[in-house]
Amino acid sequence: MLILTCPYCGVAADETELAPGGEAHLRRAGPAAGEAEFEAYMFHRANPRGVHFERWRHAFGCGKWFHAARCTMTLEVFGTYSAQCTAPPAAIFKAILASRPDWTPTPGQPEPPKPAARARKSAAKPVAKGKAKAKTPTAPAAKPAKADAKGKGDAT
Ligand SMILES: [Zn+2]
Repeated sequence: MLILTCPYCGVAADETELAPGGEAHLRRAGPAAGEAEFEAYMFHRANPRGVHFERWRHAFGCGKWFHAARCTMTLEVFGTYSAQCTAPPAAIFKAILASRPDWTPTPGQPEPPKPAARARKSAAKPVAKGKAKAKTPTAPAAKPAKADAKGKGDAT
């Protein structure tokens, strides 16, 4: 039995209390789209065996739409989140990868955020080390640092 927790009212709802809304995170075909692109938007739906992102409505509860990430084989639920999200939150991807480390999104599925923050942190570290090195020689000899400051003042 499928049980999804509604992200709005917090009720762990049985599937008889919910109404399915199909695949989540569909991108609407724009006005410049061709027939094939519009057909794909209207009719082509993913039906993966495994991790799937879906829309559900808490029909016999608060009545609101929400998104759920679950496994279509085992009915394992990785999480539910607001229908206002254009992509699953990072916590959902974290839950999926914790359960299935080898999971990769099928074409058309939302992709987990790339670790760009790591690159920034590693770039920031050498700067911090450079500052630390500069402080260590000046800290024991405080007088030369003041002389430098005076020298700069005179130069300007
Ligand atoms: Zn609800």
